[in-house]
Amino acid sequence: MNRSFQQIREQVLNRTVLLPDGTKVPALGQGTWYMGENPNTWQEEVQTLRTGIELGMTLIDTAEMYGDGNAERLVGEAIRGKRDDVFLVSKVYPHNAGRNRIKQACENSLKRLGTDYLDLYLLHWRGMVPLAVVIEGMEQLKEEGKILRWGVSNLDTDDMIELVNCPDGRNCTVNQVLYHLGSRGIEYDLLPWQRDNHIPVMAYSPLAQGGTLRHHLLTHPIIKDLAEKKEVEPYQILLAWCIRTNEIIAIPKASKVEHVIANAKAASVQFTDKELEKLNHAFPAPDRKVPLDII
Ligand code: NAP
Repeated sequence: MNRSFQQIREQVLNRTVLLPDGTKVPALGQGTWYMGENPNTWQEEVQTLRTGIELGMTLIDTAEMYGDGNAERLVGEAIRGKRDDVFLVSKVYPHNAGRNRIKQACENSLKRLGTDYLDLYLLHWRGMVPLAVVIEGMEQLKEEGKILRWGVSNLDTDDMIELVNCPDGRNCTVNQVLYHLGSRGIEYDLLPWQRDNHIPVMAYSPLAQGGTLRHHLLTHPIIKDLAEKKEVEPYQILLAWCIRTNEIIAIPKASKVEHVIANAKAASVQFTDKELEKLNHAFPAPDRKVPLDII
């Protein structure tokens, strides 16, 4: 490992988030949506995830949905021989989260991932299965040792309140939601509620995935100026902003080695209060409740 690689890794390892059970996870993880879908890019994607792991981005987020199981297969290949170094997160489809299906869905994920346990299993979004039943299934999987923890995704504040009021609902470890500089709705009530209830936010699409909003962010003069001043790329400003406190885990997806290295470098970017104020001014958080952004 060369010196600069080692330095980047140390900076990544310095940025952690504490889970409710006291486990520390890296604030910068890796997403996998749209990975494993093209045989021509498979090896490069495997190599990218492995590079991320070497750089300390050891939390890997996947789902049975991604590539119809192929993202989990790809992750399985990437973590072969490194299972103990990785904090593995997968998600169950809402229609598989009922009493008779969750165990099978989890076992299928484990098989594709080539492991016998998940560090964290998430309900991908709320569906028809009552939350109390989902929790029962998750707790059962925990008892069987197939998962170490469970959490949810795409739940807004009212759903979270309902969740924690179900039996064992307080065992929820994270809520994974969309969050980036151009989508700050959670700061109005969900983020403060999760902070008060010691349930960290896992931020998905921290780079605004694609499309016009991302272009707007990346070309905005405030972001470009900040990037220039800090000698980084606008992407790294977006990512560093997401993890600016020690309470949010961001899971950028990269399928190219140079992208994952760039993302890891965001761990060294810090903001002064004045810089944060400028960003707040250009991209204000809403001052009233807005529905949770979901993609
Ligand atoms: P994202 O991470 O915001 O953006 C991914 C895009 O950014 C890809 O096109 C990637 O390109 C590009 N990129 C990454 N790093 C870059 C860099 N340094 N320079 C230039 N381009 C870069 O979007 P996302 O995939 O939607 O979100 C991240 C993860 O969150 C997902 O992969 C998934 O694991 C999770 N997620 C969860 C939900 C949910 O409902 N729970 C929803 C969406 C996402 P390359 O691929 O070419 O590197």
